[in-house]
Amino acid sequence: QIWAQKVHPLDRKMFLESYQEIIDGRSIHQHVEYRAMNHKQEWVWLRTRGTVMFDEEGQPDLFAGIISNIDQKDKFDPLTGLYNKYELEAMVKTHIEQSQESLALMILNLDNFKHINQLRDRVFGDEVLRYSAQKICTLLPKDVLVYKLDSDEFAVVFKNYSREQIVKCYNTLNKFFAKQQFIEDMHFYCSISAGCAFYPKDASLYINLYKYAEYALERSKNSGKNQLSFYFKNIVMDHLRRLNMLDALRSSIENNFHGFSLKFQPIVDASTLKIIGAEALVRWHCEEFGHVLPTEFIPLLEHSRMIIEVGKWIFKEAIKQAESFILYKSDFILSVNLSYVQTSPTPMTPFIREVIENSTLDPKNISVEFTESYIASDDIQEIFKSIRDLNINIAMDDFGTGYSSLSVLKECPANTVKIDKAFVQDITFSRFDKTLIRLIIELCHEANMKVCLEGVETKEEYAIIRDMKPDYIQGYLFGKPCDAGKLIELLKKMD
Ligand code: C2E
Ligand code: MG
Ligand code: MG
Repeated sequence: QIWAQKVHPLDRKMFLESYQEIIDGRSIHQHVEYRAMNHKQEWVWLRTRGTVMFDEEGQPDLFAGIISNIDQKDKFDPLTGLYNKYELEAMVKTHIEQSQESLALMILNLDNFKHINQLRDRVFGDEVLRYSAQKICTLLPKDVLVYKLDSDEFAVVFKNYSREQIVKCYNTLNKFFAKQQFIEDMHFYCSISAGCAFYPKDASLYINLYKYAEYALERSKNSGKNQLSFYFKNIVMDHLRRLNMLDALRSSIENNFHGFSLKFQPIVDASTLKIIGAEALVRWHCEEFGHVLPTEFIPLLEHSRMIIEVGKWIFKEAIKQAESFILYKSDFILSVNLSYVQTSPTPMTPFIREVIENSTLDPKNISVEFTESYIASDDIQEIFKSIRDLNINIAMDDFGTGYSSLSVLKECPANTVKIDKAFVQDITFSRFDKTLIRLIIELCHEANMKVCLEGVETKEEYAIIRDMKPDYIQGYLFGKPCDAGKLIELLKKMD
């Protein structure tokens, strides 16, 4: 009551209510910001945070906390307590006025944060932002400044840091955020993309420095997220190329998917070397850009969510072709890649079911591939369940490229694990990769899962791999991606 008399009349009711909540047991945490009169009779902004502590019997024992002077409230982001974008601008501008010393501006953005808001709710989303803010601050060196920008974006200012040092700092964040996180008993998975630009090397004005860091961030987002990009001179050209490519992709889609096609890469049994199935791989060609690699256009499709439409086309088309493959091999398994955007927040399962029901295929003839990082996130367990209920197979793609530990295999909803080609590539000289593959195969077999090795290109590689007894192999040595007609030829030759 005594303290409340110092509180600004407009804030008093809210201030008292925050205590009443504690007293009534409606809450055990207090977090309230209000104005109060100081000894100079000025209004200052204060923040009171407190927590009820309990004794061994679970009875409230102590109410402890701190009151801090947050001074000019408009400098802070109310959610995280970090300095806001206006402060960032003021700080960088002052630096530019006074010094020629190098300063790097890095903008961070949480990947797929929208999904967290959609899958849980905004309250949890806010909690994730607060948690991330705190982790970013503690994981970075003490002499960098962290700011909260709009929505799920943060800025970090490095003074006199080299590019290598910044990469190192980012890697620390990246490694931490690439794992599943817990807030109390709720899990979430949210990697971080970043873009960075230097003063005075890249830009001498704040407005440009900021814009360039944003271009670099956009580049990270468009090349698969979960990475740091630095600004470079041609990034604007690169940016324009992407914008034009998006336009061209959109025209292709509107033009009845003209320019899109499918190739099929054989998957063989590792011991008999007979074809057991194939993976459908999308291709895209357009007049302006010629043949574009899937690693370039798929992230664009994902980012713009056009992958939803294209993915449906791919799935239908793949199933149509597979109807002819099963004429030559009735237990043929066709694999189709699905990306996260295609399954969340609107699951693709009803569509998949409908396409299969209208085809001559059995669900057993179909497998869907998800990349490892999606499988590791527990938010989509429901989706996997609905896919399994359709009786189609699930494969964990690109295993080994994410940061999840081997323990994801334990609860993995997949029937097959596909080990990424990066491991096979080094197998002839890296003992580590060799041992790792052997262990993964053993672990998977222990858990009743099949293993497919991707990217086997040479006889030497195959000689090493054969002894490890994987189940399937997919690689140029046994078949490059080819069109449906060629695959049928190969199937005919098998009898
Ligand atoms: P992925 O699903 O891991 O597909 C395997 C990739 O490895 C294919 O590249 C294939 O051509 C390549 N590959 C197979 N064997 C070898 C080999 O022996 N050596 C080498 N160096 N490479 C080999 P591609 O077709 O360029 O596709 C790249 C990625 O693009 C795919 O990786 C997949 O993540 C994505 N992608 C392709 N098609 C689709 C699709 O229809 N939908 C979605 N969502 N993603 C797709
Ligand atoms: Mg795949
Ligand atoms: Mg793969």
